[in-house]
Amino acid sequence: NRQWLLASRPVGAPKLSNFNFVESEKPSPKQGEVLLRTVYLSLDPYMRGRMNDAKSYAEPVAIDEVMVGGSVCRVEESNHPDFEVGEWVVAYNGWQDYSVSEGVDLLKLGKNPSQPSYALGVMGMPGLTAYMGLLDIGQPKAGETVVVAAATGAVGSLVGQIAKLKGCKVVGIAGGEEKCRSAVEALGFDACVDHKAPDLAGQLAKACDAGIDVYFENVGGKVFDAVLPLLNSCARVPLCGLISQYNATDLPEGPDRLSMLMGTLLVKRIKMQGFIVFDDYGHRYNEFSQEMMQWLQAGKISYREHLVDGLDNAVDAFIGLLDGKNFGKLVVRVGSD
Ligand code: NDP
Repeated sequence: NRQWLLASRPVGAPKLSNFNFVESEKPSPKQGEVLLRTVYLSLDPYMRGRMNDAKSYAEPVAIDEVMVGGSVCRVEESNHPDFEVGEWVVAYNGWQDYSVSEGVDLLKLGKNPSQPSYALGVMGMPGLTAYMGLLDIGQPKAGETVVVAAATGAVGSLVGQIAKLKGCKVVGIAGGEEKCRSAVEALGFDACVDHKAPDLAGQLAKACDAGIDVYFENVGGKVFDAVLPLLNSCARVPLCGLISQYNATDLPEGPDRLSMLMGTLLVKRIKMQGFIVFDDYGHRYNEFSQEMMQWLQAGKISYREHLVDGLDNAVDAFIGLLDGKNFGKLVVRVGSD
């Protein structure tokens, strides 16, 4: 059983040396348990937070413990009346080949799901995040301008497409020309600006000529600096993630702009609300999955996966995720179907 353990806590960007690749005995399920074999492992930005020993909404991973993560697995052995060998399930069992489960935390996908890995993306946690953050907190109305950063990623690509389905003008922000082109051509955004361009603020202002009504925040940092002056009165800001800061060791240099931010929120009566997807919206999963499935089947949502082969490549892929190397939802193919 191959496993990636957390070897040490990173300072700044994670390095290969913060992880340890080990092999151990395949676990065996007791009565009432199943043995799961991981086929797809999801890699997500929140995992960076779990590597820190800081108080947060979830416990950190302990040193020498398996890295946490969601996965799509097959039941390899079953001593549990509700699970059959060969069934597919979604589990939260981390970066490893095999694990045992009592079954309570497993989501069944049936014996022959058509796209099992979609349960980690468009039909799973990132999909629910995009759907609820945008619709419940962002409350977009037809004709309004919605801006989303990390626009071609797992969450951002769906935020923009859902906003288009709601009749909004959508402007993405992404890293590099290729991602920006794809946001417009493959995802149907009205425009997309490159956050690596020297004149980000000017380009964003040009693309958002009627200001910004909803800003779905995935990134923070200089991207938010460019967005803030463009927010319209009564704009909504679902605060989903701040990936540009996850590797930061200090507060940014420069003048303290907190009072400017607070002043803008006040005079423009802006609503900014953070959320943690499963804590706040886990109970609304069915509502989301029904509508998203319909959109997918009707060809109204396009979905791109960035598939990496082999559990041994998980660390490189994860380090790349925090640096914009992924193009679409990052998933590791751990084993064969
Ligand atoms: P993505 O698939 O979007 O991958 C991350 C992307 O972030 C990169 O590809 C890169 O895109 C962008 N990025 C990385 N560093 C920077 C930077 N310094 N400046 C600007 N952009 C950067 O990841 P997800 O869709 O899974 O997650 C998106 C956000 O949503 C994250 O912040 C994540 O933490 C958050 N999230 C929050 C949840 C919640 O419950 N609140 C649940 C799920 C996700 P590019 O190359 O375009 O810059």
